[in-house]
This record gives sequence, C-alpha cells and structure tokens, in this order.
Amino acid sequence: MKPPVLVRDLAHVVGPDAVLWRPEDLLLYEYDGLSSARQPHAVVFPSTTEQVVSIVKLAARENLPVVARGAGTGLSGGSVVTEGGIVVATSRMKKIVEIDLENQRARVQPGVVNLDLSLAVSDHGYYFVPDPSSQKACTIGGNVAENAAGPHTLAYGVTTNHVLGLEVVLPGGEVIHTGAPFWDRPGYDLRGLLVGSEGTLGIVTEVTVRLCRKPEAVVTLLSIYERVVDATRTVAAITARGITPSALEMMDGFTLRAVEEATHAGYPMDSAAVLLIEVEGLREAVEEQADQIAQVCRENQAREVHRAQTTEERELLWRGRKNAFGALGRISPSYYLQDGVIPRTRLPEMLEYIAQVARKYDLLIGNIFHAGDGNLHPIIMFDPRDAGQAQRVRPRGGRGAATIGHGQWSPGNPPASYLSLRSLSGPRPHNAGPDSSP
Ligand SMILES: Cc1cc2nc3c(=O)[nH]c(=O)nc-3n(C[C@H](O)[C@H](O)[C@H](O)COP(=O)(O)OP(=O)(O)OC[C@H]3O[C@@H](n4cnc5c(N)ncnc54)[C@H](O)[C@@H]3O)c2cc1C
Repeated sequence: MKPPVLVRDLAHVVGPDAVLWRPEDLLLYEYDGLSSARQPHAVVFPSTTEQVVSIVKLAARENLPVVARGAGTGLSGGSVVTEGGIVVATSRMKKIVEIDLENQRARVQPGVVNLDLSLAVSDHGYYFVPDPSSQKACTIGGNVAENAAGPHTLAYGVTTNHVLGLEVVLPGGEVIHTGAPFWDRPGYDLRGLLVGSEGTLGIVTEVTVRLCRKPEAVVTLLSIYERVVDATRTVAAITARGITPSALEMMDGFTLRAVEEATHAGYPMDSAAVLLIEVEGLREAVEEQADQIAQVCRENQAREVHRAQTTEERELLWRGRKNAFGALGRISPSYYLQDGVIPRTRLPEMLEYIAQVARKYDLLIGNIFHAGDGNLHPIIMFDPRDAGQAQRVRPRGGRGAATIGHGQWSPGNPPASYLSLRSLSGPRPHNAGPDSSP
C-alpha cells in the first residue's frame, strides 16, 4: 500500500518512522480513556516546535482538522477525531528542557509524563504538585489542556495554579509565548485562558511549571466507617473546623474491596466506606492537625482511625487509591465514569441519590472521589455486550451520551476565540522567551 501524498509530506517533516497511517496502526488512536470515535487520516509524532508548525501548516493546506494528543488518558473525548484529520501526538516531545531549582520552576516539552517530572526533582526535595490518578501515564501537555486535578488539589489548587508560562502553536502556524517565568505578568492572562481549553485553541509545545518544596512532615490517616453517610458527614465536619488537609479522598465499600483484591494495599474488606486523609507541613502543626482530624472522624462514628506508620505503608495506601480505576476494570468488562462537583455539605444526600439510581436501574455503581473538593466520580459498571444494560447506562442519543471530539479545530474553520487570541498575543517580543524577564 503506497502512502498518500499527505503522509509523504508529513514524513518529510518528521521522518518516516514518525508517521502512522495504515488503518491497523491507527486503531489505538480511535480511543481515549473513555470514548471511541473515528480514525484519523494520520498520527504524527513531532519532536520540536518547528515540526509542529510545519504539520499545522500542512493540515491547513489540506483543510484537515488537527487534534493534539498526549497519553490518551483523557475522559472527555478531546484527543480523538470525529471527522478524520491529523493527530499530533506529543510522545516524542518528552524533554525536561531546564530545571531551575533556585527559581522553583522547570521548563518541559508537553509529552513529559507527569510523574517523571516529580521523580526528576525528588532527590532535591521538590515535586510537581498536580497529581491526577493517571500521573504515571498522562502528560503535562494533557494536564495543561484539561486543567487536571488530583488528590492534592484540595490544598494546592489545580494545574493552572502551577503553570507559569506556555509556548503554543496556533491553528495558523504562529508560535506565541504567554505567561512568564514569574507570577503576575502584566497584560491579559492568556495563559489562564489556554489552561483548560482542551486543545481547542492551539498545540502547547512547551510549558514552564512551578515546582514546590516537599513538606517537612506528612501524616496519612485511614478513617474506616460502617455507614457511608458517616464518612460523608466527616468531610464537611473537618473543613468546618478550619482544617484543610492536603488530600481528603473517599472510597465506598464496593470500590475498596475491588481495590484491595487488586493491590493488597491494606484497606479493610468489611467496611462501608473509608476516608484517606493526608496532612502535611511543619512537623508540630501536622501532628496537631492529625490529632484534630482523628477526633472529628471519631465524633462522626468512625469505627477506627488508622495512622500509616511508615512511608511504605503510606505509599501503599496511595497506590491502592491511584489504581482504583484499574482495579474496577478487573471486575467489570466496562464502566462509565462520571465527573461532577457539588458542595461538600451535600455529599450525604448525593451519595444516597446515587445509591437510589443504582437500585432503580439495577446497576452496580462504585464511588471513589476527591471528597474534600466535592468532586464526585460515580462509576457505573456494565457489560457492553448486554444490550439492556448498555442502554440503561448510556441511552442511545440520550443525555448519558459522552461528548466526543470537542478538542478538535480545523484550520479552515478555527474557533472564534482563535482570531482574538492571535491579536491579543501579538508577535513574540524578541527577548520574551520563558527565560527572560517580563
Ligand atoms: C485511570 C484514570 C485516572 C484519572 N484521574 C484523573 C484525576 O485524578 N484528575 C484529573 O483531572 N484527570 C484524571 N484523569 C483524566 C486524564 O488522565 C487527565 O485529563 C490528563 O490530564 C490527560 O492527559 P493526557 O496526556 O492523557 O491527555 P490526552 O488524553 O492525550 O488529551 C487530553 C486533552 O488534552 C489535549 N492535549 C493533549 N496534549 C496537548 C498539547 N500538547 N497541546 C494542546 N492540547 C493538548 C487533547 O487534545 C485533549 O483535548 C484520569 C484518567 C484515567 C484514565
């Protein structure tokens, strides 16, 4: 099979080993972490910003949509195409360009895996705070595009709070630099606009991130409950006392049994729910906060409040939590993951409502979520081969259907925001790279 002209032109830009175009090679790229859509015309793996510019210009010539893709763990269909087009995969753009510990920042290409950045600076006592559960796989470019959150969002904020500057290739092929190596650059906050825009405004080709010092002390508590409602009440009670843990996660009994069977992390198999609570900071303050939290848990009928005794035990509990989706995948052929945020004071009634929905539709629904933020993840288990079940989970054309492909823009039809973004950003000042003063 002879490659089409487009593929030959793309190969001219990135090299023949950096373009996929045969249908069997494209299969994987029909999917992200949740949805499936159409095959792209080609998947291309650039290594540099210049190559991304050339790819975008080629796409414009062919009037084809362009979709950026990191690790493909996204759950909102942003990295899959709906009408063909070119997928720009960043997995070869994985250089940590610069680590600047004195200024607590790093400059990275977008394909750097989230956890790899923290590992690279860990020995120096630093880490990159955003820690989605997918952090072993997902990329910093994907985190930026999704404004990803994680367990430690509660205390330290989401990705946008840890991104200082961006280099972005716009749909017309222009390269812009937004933000600065420092906070609060004068002018419009285009960095803030781009973070969370799900790839709709351009392709991020470099990110300047903030690095944080690892805390002096960390205490991890596992609070165990006989009733879900007691766990949910504890969440609001902790914050009502003016305590902000660095993480406050909840798993219901169904989920934690699946997790324990898969990971042997030390979760109790016989409880209705657990809270995984972490406090960190200066040693004395952490000890005091941990004692206060344990007391609140007991006041809210915790059966037991267990404190991780060693770093290994702490890491094991987190490994269980972060592998929970995989653990649920072992017991169900498929699942439909929901993602919503509610005030944490409404958690008790919302968990009861989810239980009612499960009963009404005769479905298993597990709950694992960032309880401190009220960020729920009801996970509906189902077997897609069972037509009745599949229909109950995602009514065809109904409100349950996933949104697909909104990360896509087409050079011939850029989003309205593109034009204004280009005019607001202006040309790149000759000295205004991520390393220079604002
Ligand atoms: C098991 C599991 C657990 C998860 N846990 C969390 C969690 O705790 N918190 C959370 O927030 N999310 C979570 N996610 C969702 C997902 O991992 C995150 O959204 C992550 O940031 C996506 O990164 P990615 O590299 O996989 O991006 P992809 O899935 O490849 O892409 C996601 C979006 O980013 C765009 N994009 C990717 N790279 C670029 C770029 N260089 N320039 C412009 N746009 C780009 C894509 O076009 C797409 O719209 C989880 C997913 C899974 C499967």
